Amino acid sequence: MSAKTIAILGGGESGVGAALLAQANGYEVFLSDEGGLKDHYRANLSRAGIDFEEGQHTEARILAATEVIKSPGIPDNAPLVQKLLLEKTPVISEIEFAARYTTAKLIGITGSNGKTTTSLLTYHLLKTAGFNVGLAGNIGDSFARSVLDSQFDYYVLEISSFQLDGMYDTRLDVAVLLNITPDHLDRYGYDFQNYVNSKFRITQNLRPNDSFIYFQENPAIAAELAGRNLTVRRLPFSVEHIVKPGGYGQDQRITVQADTLPFTTETTGLPLSGQHNAMNMMASLLAAQSVGVPNETLLAGLQTFINAPHRLEPVATVNGVQFINDSKATNVDSVFYALDSMTAPTVWIAGGVDKGNDYGVLDALVQRHVKALICLGTDNTKLTAHFGGMVSTILKTDNMDEAVRLAASLAGPGEVVLLSPACASFDLFRNYEDRGNRFKQAVNTLLIQEERSKIQD
Ligand code: ADP
Repeated sequence: MSAKTIAILGGGESGVGAALLAQANGYEVFLSDEGGLKDHYRANLSRAGIDFEEGQHTEARILAATEVIKSPGIPDNAPLVQKLLLEKTPVISEIEFAARYTTAKLIGITGSNGKTTTSLLTYHLLKTAGFNVGLAGNIGDSFARSVLDSQFDYYVLEISSFQLDGMYDTRLDVAVLLNITPDHLDRYGYDFQNYVNSKFRITQNLRPNDSFIYFQENPAIAAELAGRNLTVRRLPFSVEHIVKPGGYGQDQRITVQADTLPFTTETTGLPLSGQHNAMNMMASLLAAQSVGVPNETLLAGLQTFINAPHRLEPVATVNGVQFINDSKATNVDSVFYALDSMTAPTVWIAGGVDKGNDYGVLDALVQRHVKALICLGTDNTKLTAHFGGMVSTILKTDNMDEAVRLAASLAGPGEVVLLSPACASFDLFRNYEDRGNRFKQAVNTLLIQEERSKIQD
């Protein structure tokens, strides 16, 4: 290979986007995917004349590259990655690569939970104010593809810890760290501190005038900040104390103030509800104020926001029972906030692939809100063992239709059925979207049956 060679590991959206951007910038590109590529990605690569392989990694070609862009799905302990690291070949993420080719101001958002919601909302607030803004990262089109195809002045980037792990020089103008709670520990040697370090990479190149927005009461963030010397414009948000500059949310009201006049609003009636979303809203509002969005347009942005599906998404009310799809809740902390926002007795559907969960943090909320638990997974032993003495009715199934039927039979009018699994979905479903969609289908079947029976009456 010539001097300017890039090998790309993984041919999903980020890999293919990176390949196209690298090719357009004069690199000799080789993309390698151990599995198969989706048809449209294969077509993208062929059309651009990019060399690629599927079903294998030809190590010699990859080891010969001067730089490697690795898909976030490939762990660092994969043998090929280990070999690259041994040879001191830089292994970077697609975000790191794409950031070299844009001069746009970057707002990066990370956290264990709330990234997508906060990224979408921040994007929407900037859009509503008329900013020329793009949305990329762990959401929608890859950052690389967007940099190649568009000319934005601002980017909102949703950044996962796996993406952060491959970021070194990217400098964000605004960094948002929503929370750090245990997740993905299998990728971090089962050491929480490794995961915390990964999340803190979001701050690594901030300059004194850049903004760092974070949740002040998150124990992991607070502990880490106490031991670090970060010279940046700090904009914490809190649900306990008034902070200026920063954000404060209590009693259905949020107030935020970056280097601006304060913006304050009631949260009742806004599309995003629950305490976790009050935090997400404060983070987004602070990010928007930081880049100059005027207070006058913020309320309209909050009011017209439509969140992505599968996040505490109301599906339907059948026979007086409200069904809520929170399939994206794949860890305990997100379930904590889902249960916390319940205001009626709840039949809770949970389960799937346990990522080393500690269910103890849910005990008080489960005792307060949950009247029955339906375990939906191939192995439900951990859930049933933990909640056995706590919830009087616990049923098990490995079928979504049955889970919804059972839940419907246990919930009465005015009560709630909540799918909020605390687990990954891969035992029974393709992904969390598939799980959420099957839940919605099953609820819609109930709805149709209800309507038919009304007509027959
Ligand atoms: P992410 O992109 O980080 O997975 P999402 O916005 O997709 O975050 O939300 C994932 C899950 O976490 C959903 O169940 C949602 O209700 C919950 N959630 C959203 N924001 C927060 C937050 N700030 N803290 C805890 N849980 C949250």
